[in-house]
Amino acid sequence: MRTIEHWIGGAATRAGSTRTAPVWNPATGQQQADVLLASPADVDVAVSAAAKAFESWSQASLTQRTRVLFAFRELVHRHARELAEIIADEHGKVVSDALGEVQRGLEVVEFACGIPHLLKGDFSDQVSTGVDVYSFREPLGVVAGITPFNFPVMVPMWMHPVAIACGNAFVLKPSERDPSASLLVASLWSEAGLPDGVFNVVHGDKDAVDALLDHPDVGAVSFVGSTPIARYIHERASANGKRVQALGGAKNHAVVLPDADLDFASNHLVAAAMGSAGERCMAISAAVAVGAGGDGDRLVEAVAAKAAAVRVGPGRDEASEMGPVITAAARDRIAGYVDTGERQGATVAVDGRGLVVPGHEDGFFVGPTVLDHVTPSMDVYRDEIFGPVLSVVRAGDVDEAIALINANPYGNGTAIFTGSGEAARRFQRGVRVGMIGINVPIPVPMAYYSFGGWKDSLFGQSHMHGPEGIAFYTRAKVVTSRWPRVEHPVAASYHFPTA
Ligand code: NAD
Repeated sequence: MRTIEHWIGGAATRAGSTRTAPVWNPATGQQQADVLLASPADVDVAVSAAAKAFESWSQASLTQRTRVLFAFRELVHRHARELAEIIADEHGKVVSDALGEVQRGLEVVEFACGIPHLLKGDFSDQVSTGVDVYSFREPLGVVAGITPFNFPVMVPMWMHPVAIACGNAFVLKPSERDPSASLLVASLWSEAGLPDGVFNVVHGDKDAVDALLDHPDVGAVSFVGSTPIARYIHERASANGKRVQALGGAKNHAVVLPDADLDFASNHLVAAAMGSAGERCMAISAAVAVGAGGDGDRLVEAVAAKAAAVRVGPGRDEASEMGPVITAAARDRIAGYVDTGERQGATVAVDGRGLVVPGHEDGFFVGPTVLDHVTPSMDVYRDEIFGPVLSVVRAGDVDEAIALINANPYGNGTAIFTGSGEAARRFQRGVRVGMIGINVPIPVPMAYYSFGGWKDSLFGQSHMHGPEGIAFYTRAKVVTSRWPRVEHPVAASYHFPTA
């Protein structure tokens, strides 16, 4: 059995790790590797390597840093297919979808290539006679990233290109379920000329995470994952005096108004609910059918027809549109939710339970599932299922839909399908959600904006990448300076300085 190692100080290493966890191939249901699980001592080795590398990397000129970033950008671009295939084999998503993830990560690298411009400070001339004021930003030191299984390349890339461009050293603790892509990324950083120790990968579980949260030399923690863990990370790292941004789970609603084009809306709804087997934090998991009963029935009919036609199969098969879910436990949990939904009164319009893919009988497959007549009190509505399950709820008008969304504890993303500018504008102003799509089902902001939700989808103040990413990974200095022509006798005043 292959063993997946850590990457510390510019090389793959076992460090002192003795524990391992299995890495599955979700399409076959077979174990394909063991991943090492770092102990606190292993984490300390990685943080020490990063702290040492920070001393010189933080002093590297902007030109040197930018050259490494451009070289890294070229290498990721060149290895995109290889990265996508690693993702497909460990996560399960189809290769075309994995290529999309790599592309969205690459866009953050491209954003970070503009670091000389992004780090420019302010300058105010002659704020008082002979006095100037200016500001600049400095890196924090060693910063850590703890990431989820569902985007093993893109989510870490929301963090490390920006952190490294700002002059920090980075320790990544990727998901132990699909750990291999991070190692290829580490070797690409090395090939791009990044000094050893600036980017490190430690694999692990709670032990490794807690060691990072408690380590005195880790200055900031970026986390993406489920809401209970995000809340925990934020509390523990904040109590240790660290800067923290912790992005949590989601329940994203798409509102469909009666004036929307039914074909357009239902196609996009199904793709946004079932793509990546629903394992996206921006997946649409609740559709809000607005209008009289007939409008909702027409939407469910169109959505059900499309969902039932989705081609489910292994991620490596080009004919597949949707792959398996991450583990057997996830498959069983998702099927359990559908059972509960049915018991609590939902209508199963499309049933993905028990799907068997010929030739992949042991794979972790769940078929697209559509539940109708779902109400806010049902478990399928209240919880994040994180699988290919779309719950349809009904609302009388757009204001009722907005109220429904605002009553939900999550606030990551939402979308509206409509032909009415007035309704769309009311919606964008009314919802308490961080990322909003208007006739766009998955409104992931471009890299030069910042990504993040509200409410239980975010703990801490800062969103990721874009301007908020730069601010998160740096702190500002403001200098007040005077180069006087000194004339004696010198008269210093004892009152508080004013201009
Ligand atoms: P998860 O919370 O189980 O794991 C995330 C990370 O935390 C992993 O690295 C894991 O090893 C670590 N971890 C798990 N349990 C821990 C514990 N008890 N103590 C310390 N660390 C722990 O999440 P997941 O299942 O890997 O990913 C899916 C979740 O991530 C979903 O809820 C999804 O919505 C969310 N997500 C959110 C965003 C966003 O931008 N808001 C993006 C992607 C995924």
